[in-house]
Amino acid sequence: MELDKERQERYFIVVRRSKKGLSRGAVGRADAETAAGDLIGMVYGGSGSARSSGTVKKEDTYPLSRHQAQLLLFVSPASRRLELLSNVQLFSAICDLAQDDLVVVKRKKDFQPCLVKNLIQIGKKDKPGVLQMLGFELDLVDTEQDILSKKTVPLPFFSAADIVQVAPSHLNTSQPLRVSIDLGLNRKAVSRIYSMPALNSRNAKKGSTLSNKDVANSIQAMSHYSLEVGSMAEVISLNGLTVYGVIRWIGVPDGKKHYWAGLELDTEVTTCSDGTLGTKQYFTCERNKALFVPLTNCKPDSRFLFIPNENENKKPLEPPSVLLEDLNEDVPPVAERDVLSHLVGRMRGIQGHFNSCYLDATLFSLFTSSIGFNRMFNRSADSEEGISHILRRDIVNCLRRSGFVPAENVMKFRKQLGCKSFATEEKDPEEFITLLLKDVLHIEPLLKIRARGELSQDAYTHQIIVEKNQVGAVPSVQQLLEMSLVSSDLKFEEIPSCLIVQMPRFGKKFKMFPKIIPSTELDITDVLHCSPRECFLCGHVAEYECDQCLMDHKLQPGKIKQYCSICNTQVHTHPSRQEHTPHKLTVHLPEDASVQRHQMQLFAVLCINTSHYVSFVKYGPDPRSWIFFDSMADRCGDDNNGYNVPVIRSCPEVGDFLSQSEEEISTADLSQCSELVRRLLCDSYMCLYQRTDNHQ
Ligand SMILES: [Zn+2]
Ligand SMILES: [Zn+2]
Repeated sequence: MELDKERQERYFIVVRRSKKGLSRGAVGRADAETAAGDLIGMVYGGSGSARSSGTVKKEDTYPLSRHQAQLLLFVSPASRRLELLSNVQLFSAICDLAQDDLVVVKRKKDFQPCLVKNLIQIGKKDKPGVLQMLGFELDLVDTEQDILSKKTVPLPFFSAADIVQVAPSHLNTSQPLRVSIDLGLNRKAVSRIYSMPALNSRNAKKGSTLSNKDVANSIQAMSHYSLEVGSMAEVISLNGLTVYGVIRWIGVPDGKKHYWAGLELDTEVTTCSDGTLGTKQYFTCERNKALFVPLTNCKPDSRFLFIPNENENKKPLEPPSVLLEDLNEDVPPVAERDVLSHLVGRMRGIQGHFNSCYLDATLFSLFTSSIGFNRMFNRSADSEEGISHILRRDIVNCLRRSGFVPAENVMKFRKQLGCKSFATEEKDPEEFITLLLKDVLHIEPLLKIRARGELSQDAYTHQIIVEKNQVGAVPSVQQLLEMSLVSSDLKFEEIPSCLIVQMPRFGKKFKMFPKIIPSTELDITDVLHCSPRECFLCGHVAEYECDQCLMDHKLQPGKIKQYCSICNTQVHTHPSRQEHTPHKLTVHLPEDASVQRHQMQLFAVLCINTSHYVSFVKYGPDPRSWIFFDSMADRCGDDNNGYNVPVIRSCPEVGDFLSQSEEEISTADLSQCSELVRRLLCDSYMCLYQRTDNHQ
């Protein structure tokens, strides 16, 4: 029946999160369409069985063939399905794979050439409402010895998304794959006796060793085909870090025996040349961009994954625009529940390079998970091109989506910062923050400051300025901020959406206090110009403020003092205070009005030790939700030929430590605390606070 046929063919993938709660990447089958253009049908769960049914807007979906739907269903998580689908050429090549086709799969951290053996159906067969998933059975090719691996343990099944490259099909002469195996979900039930009859006969005919040469030839043909002068190539280091470039020269350099490639890299690397190797110039390019490596170390640029097939006259395929639009959309800050699985580990966060730690630590602090800062970021001016676009796409979205920002992305951004020294030298975070907020994001100054009652200056950060004797030996940020503002007669005009406080230290070495307590909550009520405040003594609405009472030893020295008119008179009748000249506050409320307190939450602490910046990020409301980030925690290779390994660590102990009273914190024996607790307490350079209330 026509209807049945149509019913079978109408599969789709959800490309936009719909109001009905279908998540992006969900694969479904449409059975009918409403007059309004909604699809009526159901989506499949992880096992291929129908999970939920209902309607979805047609424009939130992208149509799939049954085969495509089956391949995508086996890909998890669902977000990877969209990534694969948006790479149209690769995906269409994967859909057309034939037996013995050569593919490259990403396996753990390695890229492995494999031969396609079978297409495997996974899931319960012929059950109504079940769509069987499709995976690939692959044979590893041992590139070292050019022989087929003889592992007796069967490989796991690969999903379509594991395949990162497909060799051009004209290199192979084999038949298109036919589905040959039906399996339940228990993958351990795989048995070789179910292998394709065609494959068995082929092996029987040629013998078990004959295929080696074919494979070797095929690989050679593939590399020859794909890598030549002018090819886009990548060089992958041991742990997966990649540099990209164009092959400008291939040959046997003086003193070598094998073929080498000379690449002109996309980005500068200090150890690279201008095309010179040894004493000889093999090609010419900008300095610090020429990299020479054995040809076998190069792979085709995986950002352009599919090698176009010259024998085909197909028009170049364009990714569906709806998908691109979707993939370019802003990624929200990483949610508290996802941080540990998404971010913690080696090669996580922003990769440091060439004095970039001031910038890595700052960007990581601001953008990883702060909701408050993100509100401001979302409102900031954005342009399609230019530096703010690079920041959004290559750093912020990249960090939030994949959890890792390679050094070249950061360098691309640094080079656009206007002054060349930002790309090469170590800078102060406050200088960078001002540049970032003012000139890159065009955000208004965060702080409007009133000095001696007059509106005077705007600023992006506040530098604490205090005398050492004005606060205790282990002050908290709360005490420091109040003292700094009061002693200079400064007030905030309004509640800032984000408050960045610089600790009192001079240069990189001298710190005024050996330890500072980073208050997790900052109460700024008493340093706001227009906000009603409580009488220091009785709690009624205050009308007077007295700076001279600030350090009074009988009245909590260091605490800001404001009084209602009754308490003001009483306090100042004391002989030692009769000289004081309290001044009247500008805001009055009826005496019985309640005073609302204004608090800000700590979301990051930037620390410095011996010129190296790292950061602590509080990634959610849970007191223990702390991570530590170091963009140069480790290094692979030597100084000249290596790269930095950024590391993110979970440090709930920091939260436990900060949950204690200030008294306990200031007297804690740091030799008994973890190293990170010690660093947080001793090395803080900047504390970042955000508003999390709904005032905005
Ligand atoms: Zn009072
Ligand atoms: Zn006084």
